[in-house]
Amino acid sequence: MNQEILIAAENLKKYFPVKKFLGGKTQYVKAVDGVTLNIYKGETFGLVGESGCGKSTLGRTLIRMYDVTGGKLSYKGRDITNAKPAEMKEFQNKMQIIFQDPYSALNPFWNVEEILNEPLKQIGMPEAERRERMEYLLNKVGMKQEDLIKFPYEFSGGQRQRIGIARALTVNPEFIMCDEPIAALDVSIQAQVVNMLEDLQNEFGLTYLFAAHDLSMVRYISTRIGVMYLGNLVEVTTSNELYERPLHPYTQALLSAIPVADPHKARERQRMKLQGELPSPLNVPQGCHFSPRCPYATEECKKTCPSLRELESGHFVACHMAEKIN
Ligand code: SF4
Repeated sequence: MNQEILIAAENLKKYFPVKKFLGGKTQYVKAVDGVTLNIYKGETFGLVGESGCGKSTLGRTLIRMYDVTGGKLSYKGRDITNAKPAEMKEFQNKMQIIFQDPYSALNPFWNVEEILNEPLKQIGMPEAERRERMEYLLNKVGMKQEDLIKFPYEFSGGQRQRIGIARALTVNPEFIMCDEPIAALDVSIQAQVVNMLEDLQNEFGLTYLFAAHDLSMVRYISTRIGVMYLGNLVEVTTSNELYERPLHPYTQALLSAIPVADPHKARERQRMKLQGELPSPLNVPQGCHFSPRCPYATEECKKTCPSLRELESGHFVACHMAEKIN
C-alpha cells in the first residue's frame, strides 16, 4: 500500500445541536465523537457499523460537507479544519461523494447531459470539450451516449447510481466518499457496481471511503476497515485481519451475525448475540459506550472510555479487555 496520507483526522468531532422546547438546555447529538484516522492514497477504507453509528456523518465531515465541531482535519497535509468556503473550493473538486439513494441525489428535472454539464461548467471546461468528456464518462460507467437526453426516472436504480458515479468523476476527484452506494440496489446489481468502482479506482488512482452495512461486500472491496460504534472507531485493521481475527467484542458480534452458506460451518460457529439496542447518541453511556451491551464489561469499562491503541502491528482496538478475551 502507498503510505502517503491523503486525509488525516485527529480527535475529529461533529455534533448536531437539538433545541429543547420551553427554554430547556440545548443538547447535542454526538454523531462523530473523537475519531482519529489516516486514509492513505490509493486505498479503500471500509467503514462498518449499525445504522446510526455515525458512518455517513464521519464521511461527510471528512470531505467538509459538514463543518467540524472539534479536532483537526487535514488533506494532503493542509489543515482544512476551519477552511472557509473560498479556501475549500480548491479541495471540493478533489473530494466527491456518491450517495446511497441515487434517485434523490439527481435533479429529476434535468436530463443526464444537464446533470453532467453543470460541474464541468463550474470547473471552467470549455463548452466544446464538455460533450466529449460527458460521453467518455458515460462510457466509463457502462452507459451510452444516447442516455444523455434521458431523465433520471427513465433509468433503473443501478443505472441511476452509474450516473451518480459519472457525475462524481466529472471534476477529476482524488477521494470519493461512497456513502452506502449499493444499499438501495438490487443484490444482482450490487456486485456490478462494486466491480465498476474497483476498475475506476485502478484507472484513475482514486481513494475511497466505503461505508456500508453489507459486511461481506465491504471485505471484498476494502484494503482496511474501521468499525464504528456510537460516533467512534472501536477497531481498525486490514480487511483480512478483521474478518480472520476480530479483537473487539462488538466486531466479533457483528461478524458472527453474517450468514454462512456451509451448514457444517454454521453449526460449528458460535453466534455472539448483541444485547439491547444501539443507545441514543444524545445520551451516550458513561465509560466504554459499548458497556451496556458487552458480555465482558467490568466496573472499569463502565467508568473509563478506552482509547484506540495498536494491539498488534497495524491492528488497533479500543477495549480494556482485548488481551484477556482474545
Ligand atoms: Fe466490552 Fe469493556 Fe471492551 Fe468496552 S472496554 S468492549 S465494555 S470489554
